[in-house]
Amino acid sequence: MEERIDGLEDKLGFLRRSLDTGHYDVVVKECSTLFELSLRKLFRQALTDLPYRDRLDLQDAEKTIGKNTKGVGDFGFGELVGLFRQSNLLKKWSQASGRQLGLLSSLDFSAIVDLRNRVTHDGAQCSRLEADLVFNYLMNLLAILGVSDLDASVKGAFKQLERSGTSNNEDSRIFSHQKSRGVLINDADNSRNIAFKVETINNIFHAIHREIEKISDSQVATNIFRISGREAGTNFGSLMSQKWDLENEFMSLGDKVKRWCEFDSDVGWGKFENQLQIVDEEEIFSGKVLLIENFQVYKKGKSEPAECLFMVGYTQGVLEQIFGGNKLDVTCDMSVCPLKNPLKKICVFGVEKSV
Ligand SMILES: [Zn+2]
Repeated sequence: MEERIDGLEDKLGFLRRSLDTGHYDVVVKECSTLFELSLRKLFRQALTDLPYRDRLDLQDAEKTIGKNTKGVGDFGFGELVGLFRQSNLLKKWSQASGRQLGLLSSLDFSAIVDLRNRVTHDGAQCSRLEADLVFNYLMNLLAILGVSDLDASVKGAFKQLERSGTSNNEDSRIFSHQKSRGVLINDADNSRNIAFKVETINNIFHAIHREIEKISDSQVATNIFRISGREAGTNFGSLMSQKWDLENEFMSLGDKVKRWCEFDSDVGWGKFENQLQIVDEEEIFSGKVLLIENFQVYKKGKSEPAECLFMVGYTQGVLEQIFGGNKLDVTCDMSVCPLKNPLKKICVFGVEKSV
Protein backbone atom coordinates (compact mmCIF):
# COMPACT_ATOMS: atom_id res chain seq x y z
CA MET A 1 0.00 0.00 0.00
CA GLU A 2 1.68 3.19 -1.15
CA GLU A 3 0.31 6.41 0.26
CA ARG A 4 1.39 9.94 -0.41
CA ILE A 5 0.79 12.77 1.98
CA ASP A 6 1.23 16.14 0.32
CA GLY A 7 3.93 18.30 1.85
CA LEU A 8 4.91 15.60 4.31
CA GLU A 9 8.57 16.53 4.11
CA ASP A 10 7.81 20.10 5.14
CA LYS A 11 5.53 18.95 7.93
CA LEU A 12 8.07 16.55 9.45
CA GLY A 13 10.74 19.22 9.26
CA PHE A 14 8.41 21.63 11.00
CA LEU A 15 7.62 19.03 13.69
CA ARG A 16 11.30 18.35 14.39
CA ARG A 17 11.99 22.04 14.76
CA SER A 18 8.97 22.44 17.03
CA LEU A 19 10.32 19.65 19.22
CA ASP A 20 13.70 21.37 19.36
CA THR A 21 12.24 24.73 20.23
CA GLY A 22 9.97 23.37 22.95
CA HIS A 23 6.63 23.82 21.16
CA TYR A 24 5.39 20.46 22.43
CA ASP A 25 1.69 21.35 22.19
CA VAL A 26 2.17 22.18 18.51
CA VAL A 27 3.83 18.79 17.98
CA VAL A 28 0.94 16.94 19.61
CA LYS A 29 -1.67 18.86 17.63
CA GLU A 30 0.11 18.57 14.28
CA CYS A 31 0.95 14.90 14.79
CA SER A 32 -2.70 14.27 15.62
CA THR A 33 -3.72 15.89 12.35
CA LEU A 34 -1.26 13.65 10.48
CA PHE A 35 -2.56 10.62 12.37
CA GLU A 36 -6.10 11.50 11.31
CA LEU A 37 -5.00 11.91 7.72
CA SER A 38 -3.08 8.63 7.73
CA LEU A 39 -5.82 6.64 9.46
CA ARG A 40 -8.42 7.95 7.04
CA LYS A 41 -6.23 7.08 4.04
CA LEU A 42 -5.48 3.68 5.48
CA PHE A 43 -9.15 2.94 6.05
CA ARG A 44 -10.14 3.95 2.53
CA GLN A 45 -7.35 1.89 1.05
CA ALA A 46 -8.35 -1.07 3.18
CA LEU A 47 -11.91 -0.77 1.85
CA THR A 48 -10.61 -1.55 -1.63
CA ASP A 49 -7.67 -3.85 -0.85
CA LEU A 50 -8.82 -6.21 1.91
CA PRO A 51 -10.70 -9.51 1.34
CA TYR A 52 -14.49 -9.26 1.04
CA ARG A 53 -15.34 -10.47 4.55
CA ASP A 54 -12.91 -8.01 6.12
CA ARG A 55 -14.42 -5.20 4.10
CA LEU A 56 -17.87 -5.99 5.49
CA ASP A 57 -16.46 -5.70 9.00
CA LEU A 58 -15.00 -2.32 8.14
CA GLN A 59 -18.30 -1.05 6.74
CA ASP A 60 -20.17 -2.27 9.81
CA ALA A 61 -17.74 -0.49 12.09
CA GLU A 62 -18.04 2.70 10.03
CA LYS A 63 -21.83 2.60 10.34
CA THR A 64 -21.70 2.01 14.08
CA ILE A 65 -19.12 4.68 14.88
CA GLY A 66 -20.77 7.18 12.51
CA LYS A 67 -24.18 6.30 13.97
CA ASN A 68 -25.45 5.94 10.40
CA THR A 69 -25.24 9.70 9.95
CA LYS A 70 -21.68 10.27 8.79
CA GLY A 71 -18.82 8.42 7.17
CA VAL A 72 -15.10 8.15 7.69
CA GLY A 73 -14.47 11.40 5.81
CA ASP A 74 -16.15 13.30 8.63
CA PHE A 75 -14.67 11.34 11.51
CA GLY A 76 -12.50 13.15 14.02
CA PHE A 77 -9.40 11.64 15.59
CA GLY A 78 -11.32 9.95 18.42
CA GLU A 79 -13.84 8.39 16.05
CA LEU A 80 -11.09 7.18 13.72
CA VAL A 81 -9.36 5.50 16.63
CA GLY A 82 -12.67 3.90 17.60
CA LEU A 83 -13.16 2.78 14.02
CA PHE A 84 -9.75 1.10 13.92
CA ARG A 85 -10.26 -0.55 17.29
CA GLN A 86 -13.71 -1.86 16.50
CA SER A 87 -12.84 -3.18 13.06
CA ASN A 88 -9.47 -4.50 14.20
CA LEU A 89 -8.19 -2.91 11.05
CA LEU A 90 -4.47 -2.73 11.78
CA LYS A 91 -4.33 -6.43 12.48
CA LYS A 92 -6.38 -7.28 9.39
CA TRP A 93 -4.20 -5.08 7.26
CA SER A 94 -0.99 -6.50 8.73
CA GLN A 95 -2.17 -10.03 7.92
CA ALA A 96 -3.20 -9.12 4.39
CA SER A 97 -0.07 -7.14 3.57
CA GLY A 98 2.46 -9.23 5.48
CA ARG A 99 3.80 -6.09 7.14
CA GLN A 100 4.99 -6.15 10.73
CA LEU A 101 3.12 -3.79 13.00
CA GLY A 102 6.11 -3.20 15.26
CA LEU A 103 5.45 -0.60 17.92
CA LEU A 104 2.01 0.06 16.52
CA SER A 105 0.58 -3.17 17.87
CA SER A 106 1.19 -1.92 21.39
CA LEU A 107 0.20 1.66 20.66
CA ASP A 108 -2.64 3.03 22.68
CA PHE A 109 -4.06 5.53 20.23
CA SER A 110 -6.72 6.60 22.69
CA ALA A 111 -3.97 7.91 24.97
CA ILE A 112 -2.84 10.15 22.14
CA VAL A 113 -6.43 11.28 21.54
CA ASP A 114 -6.73 12.15 25.23
CA LEU A 115 -3.46 14.06 25.18
CA ARG A 116 -4.51 15.93 22.04
CA ASN A 117 -7.85 16.85 23.62
CA ARG A 118 -6.24 18.06 26.81
CA VAL A 119 -3.77 20.20 24.88
CA THR A 120 -6.32 21.51 22.37
CA HIS A 121 -9.40 22.04 24.50
CA ASP A 122 -8.05 22.48 28.01
CA GLY A 123 -4.88 24.32 27.03
CA ALA A 124 -2.89 21.75 29.01
CA GLN A 125 0.90 21.64 28.86
CA CYS A 126 2.70 18.55 27.71
CA SER A 127 6.24 17.40 28.21
CA ARG A 128 9.05 16.79 25.77
CA LEU A 129 8.72 13.09 26.58
CA GLU A 130 5.05 13.02 25.59
CA ALA A 131 5.64 15.04 22.43
CA ASP A 132 8.60 12.80 21.50
CA LEU A 133 6.50 9.68 21.98
CA VAL A 134 3.66 10.97 19.83
CA PHE A 135 6.12 12.02 17.12
CA ASN A 136 7.90 8.65 17.19
CA TYR A 137 4.63 6.75 16.95
CA LEU A 138 3.69 8.87 13.98
CA MET A 139 7.03 8.10 12.30
CA ASN A 140 6.44 4.44 13.03
CA LEU A 141 3.00 4.52 11.48
CA LEU A 142 4.27 6.33 8.39
CA ALA A 143 7.13 3.87 8.02
CA ILE A 144 4.83 0.86 8.28
CA LEU A 145 2.36 2.45 5.88
CA GLY A 146 5.19 2.64 3.37
CA VAL A 147 4.46 6.28 2.70
CA SER A 148 6.18 6.58 -0.64
CA ASP A 149 8.41 9.54 0.04
CA LEU A 150 9.10 8.83 3.67
CA ASP A 151 12.84 8.23 3.27
CA ALA A 152 13.18 11.51 1.47
CA SER A 153 11.02 13.08 4.15
CA VAL A 154 13.18 11.93 7.01
CA LYS A 155 16.34 13.00 5.25
CA GLY A 156 14.68 16.27 4.34
CA ALA A 157 13.65 16.82 7.93
CA PHE A 158 17.23 16.59 9.11
CA LYS A 159 18.42 18.73 6.25
CA GLN A 160 16.02 21.47 7.28
CA LEU A 161 17.12 21.17 10.87
CA GLU A 162 20.74 21.79 9.85
CA ARG A 163 19.71 24.76 7.76
CA SER A 164 17.78 26.41 10.54
CA GLY A 165 20.82 26.15 12.79
CA THR A 166 23.00 28.16 10.44
CA SER A 167 21.10 31.37 10.03
CA ASN A 168 24.22 33.38 9.17
CA ASN A 169 24.96 31.42 6.02
CA GLU A 170 24.43 32.89 2.59
CA ASP A 171 20.96 32.02 1.23
CA SER A 172 20.09 30.19 4.43
CA ARG A 173 16.61 31.58 5.04
CA ILE A 174 13.91 29.19 4.03
CA PHE A 175 10.24 29.78 4.55
CA SER A 176 8.28 26.57 4.93
CA HIS A 177 5.07 26.73 3.02
CA GLN A 178 2.40 24.46 4.51
CA LYS A 179 0.24 24.22 1.46
CA SER A 180 -2.73 22.44 3.00
CA ARG A 181 -3.03 25.12 5.68
CA GLY A 182 -2.10 28.12 3.58
CA VAL A 183 0.54 29.00 6.12
CA LEU A 184 4.08 30.33 5.70
CA ILE A 185 6.57 29.64 8.50
CA ASN A 186 9.87 31.43 9.02
CA ASP A 187 12.22 28.57 9.91
CA ALA A 188 14.59 30.79 11.86
CA ASP A 189 12.11 31.38 14.67
CA ASN A 190 9.17 29.13 13.75
CA SER A 191 6.86 32.08 13.47
CA ARG A 192 4.03 32.49 11.01
CA ASN A 193 4.81 35.02 8.28
CA ILE A 194 2.97 36.56 5.38
CA ALA A 195 4.29 37.93 2.11
CA PHE A 196 3.37 41.10 0.23
CA LYS A 197 4.60 42.55 -3.00
CA VAL A 198 6.68 45.57 -1.95
CA GLU A 199 4.45 47.83 -4.07
CA THR A 200 1.39 46.46 -2.25
CA ILE A 201 2.61 47.08 1.27
CA ASN A 202 3.90 50.50 0.24
CA ASN A 203 0.51 51.29 -1.29
CA ILE A 204 -1.15 50.29 1.96
CA PHE A 205 1.21 52.50 3.97
CA HIS A 206 0.70 55.33 1.51
CA ALA A 207 -3.09 55.12 1.73
CA ILE A 208 -2.99 55.09 5.53
CA HIS A 209 -0.64 58.08 5.52
CA ARG A 210 -2.86 59.98 3.06
CA GLU A 211 -6.05 59.34 5.01
CA ILE A 212 -4.50 60.39 8.33
CA GLU A 213 -3.19 63.53 6.64
CA LYS A 214 -6.74 64.37 5.54
CA ILE A 215 -8.07 64.39 9.07
CA SER A 216 -4.93 65.79 10.66
CA ASP A 217 -1.64 66.81 9.05
CA SER A 218 1.46 65.31 7.50
CA GLN A 219 3.51 65.59 10.67
CA VAL A 220 0.98 63.53 12.62
CA ALA A 221 0.72 60.95 9.84
CA THR A 222 4.49 60.54 9.65
CA ASN A 223 4.76 60.26 13.40
CA ILE A 224 2.21 57.46 13.44
CA PHE A 225 4.47 55.44 11.17
CA ARG A 226 7.43 56.00 13.45
CA ILE A 227 5.38 54.97 16.50
CA SER A 228 3.93 51.85 14.89
CA GLY A 229 7.38 50.84 13.65
CA ARG A 230 8.80 51.36 17.09
CA GLU A 231 6.13 49.20 18.71
CA ALA A 232 6.71 46.42 16.19
CA GLY A 233 10.47 46.66 16.83
CA THR A 234 9.94 46.68 20.60
CA ASN A 235 7.87 43.49 20.48
CA PHE A 236 10.29 41.71 18.22
CA GLY A 237 13.41 43.04 19.95
CA SER A 238 12.27 41.98 23.40
CA LEU A 239 11.39 38.46 22.21
CA MET A 240 14.72 38.05 20.41
CA SER A 241 16.68 39.52 23.27
CA GLN A 242 15.08 37.16 25.79
CA LYS A 243 15.70 34.19 23.52
CA TRP A 244 19.38 35.07 23.13
CA ASP A 245 19.79 35.56 26.88
CA LEU A 246 18.38 32.07 27.43
CA GLU A 247 20.68 30.58 24.82
CA ASN A 248 23.81 32.39 25.94
CA GLU A 249 23.91 34.57 29.02
CA PHE A 250 27.24 36.12 28.04
CA MET A 251 26.26 37.38 24.62
CA SER A 252 27.63 40.89 24.14
CA LEU A 253 25.53 43.82 22.95
CA GLY A 254 27.59 43.96 19.78
CA ASP A 255 26.87 40.30 19.05
CA LYS A 256 23.18 40.86 19.62
CA VAL A 257 23.08 43.77 17.20
CA LYS A 258 25.02 41.67 14.69
CA ARG A 259 22.59 38.77 15.08
CA TRP A 260 19.61 41.08 14.70
CA CYS A 261 21.06 42.65 11.53
CA GLU A 262 21.56 39.17 10.07
CA PHE A 263 18.10 38.03 11.05
CA ASP A 264 16.19 41.01 9.71
CA SER A 265 18.30 41.16 6.55
CA ASP A 266 16.83 37.80 5.60
CA VAL A 267 13.21 38.78 5.18
CA GLY A 268 13.36 41.20 2.28
CA TRP A 269 13.13 44.53 4.12
CA GLY A 270 16.59 45.47 2.91
CA LYS A 271 20.01 44.72 4.34
CA PHE A 272 20.90 46.04 7.79
CA GLU A 273 24.51 46.91 8.49
CA ASN A 274 25.78 47.62 11.97
CA GLN A 275 28.09 50.63 12.26
CA LEU A 276 27.53 51.32 15.95
CA GLN A 277 30.25 51.91 18.48
CA ILE A 278 29.36 49.84 21.47
CA VAL A 279 31.15 49.64 24.80
CA ASP A 280 29.16 47.24 26.97
CA GLU A 281 30.50 48.20 30.40
CA GLU A 282 30.06 51.93 29.90
CA GLU A 283 26.69 51.68 28.22
CA ILE A 284 27.98 53.54 25.21
CA PHE A 285 26.18 52.89 21.98
CA SER A 286 26.05 55.43 19.22
CA GLY A 287 26.80 55.68 15.56
CA LYS A 288 24.94 54.40 12.56
CA VAL A 289 22.86 51.53 11.35
CA LEU A 290 22.57 51.35 7.57
CA LEU A 291 19.55 50.00 5.77
CA ILE A 292 20.56 49.18 2.22
CA GLU A 293 17.69 48.97 -0.26
CA ASN A 294 15.06 49.77 2.36
CA PHE A 295 11.78 48.43 0.94
CA GLN A 296 10.02 51.58 2.06
CA VAL A 297 11.84 53.74 -0.45
CA TYR A 298 11.52 51.26 -3.32
CA LYS A 299 10.19 52.99 -6.47
CA LYS A 300 9.28 56.10 -4.48
CA GLY A 301 9.18 59.59 -5.91
CA LYS A 302 10.71 62.70 -4.32
CA SER A 303 7.33 64.21 -3.53
CA GLU A 304 6.18 61.36 -1.34
CA PRO A 305 6.11 61.66 2.42
CA ALA A 306 8.98 60.29 4.48
CA GLU A 307 7.39 56.94 5.15
CA CYS A 308 10.77 55.32 5.69
CA LEU A 309 10.08 56.43 9.25
CA PHE A 310 8.34 53.11 9.86
CA MET A 311 11.72 51.41 9.51
CA VAL A 312 13.37 54.15 11.56
CA GLY A 313 10.89 53.47 14.35
CA TYR A 314 11.37 49.73 13.98
CA THR A 315 15.15 50.04 14.26
CA GLN A 316 14.71 52.26 17.32
CA GLY A 317 12.36 49.74 18.99
CA VAL A 318 14.65 46.76 18.39
CA LEU A 319 17.81 48.55 19.52
CA GLU A 320 16.17 49.92 22.67
CA GLN A 321 15.30 46.37 23.68
CA ILE A 322 18.77 45.05 22.89
CA PHE A 323 20.23 47.94 24.91
CA GLY A 324 18.26 46.98 27.99
CA GLY A 325 15.41 49.46 27.63
CA ASN A 326 17.56 52.58 27.24
CA LYS A 327 15.71 55.23 25.25
CA LEU A 328 17.33 56.06 21.93
CA ASP A 329 16.99 58.75 19.29
CA VAL A 330 17.05 57.31 15.79
CA THR A 331 16.81 59.45 12.67
CA CYS A 332 17.17 58.85 8.95
CA ASP A 333 19.73 61.23 7.46
CA MET A 334 17.52 62.92 4.86
CA SER A 335 20.52 64.43 3.06
CA VAL A 336 21.31 60.94 1.76
CA CYS A 337 17.94 59.13 2.14
CA PRO A 338 16.93 57.57 -1.20
CA LEU A 339 13.48 59.12 -0.75
CA LYS A 340 15.00 62.55 -1.45
CA ASN A 341 17.99 61.32 -3.45
CA PRO A 342 16.81 58.87 -6.09
CA LEU A 343 20.33 57.80 -7.04
CA LYS A 344 21.19 56.71 -3.50
CA LYS A 345 20.42 53.25 -2.18
CA ILE A 346 21.16 53.46 1.51
CA CYS A 347 19.19 54.86 4.43
CA VAL A 348 21.61 55.98 7.13
CA PHE A 349 20.01 55.78 10.55
CA GLY A 350 21.80 57.84 13.17
CA VAL A 351 21.56 56.33 16.67
CA GLU A 352 22.13 58.26 19.92
CA LYS A 353 21.24 57.62 23.50
CA SER A 354 18.31 59.80 24.44
CA VAL A 355 19.13 62.54 26.95
ZN1 LIG B 1 15.42 56.85 4.63
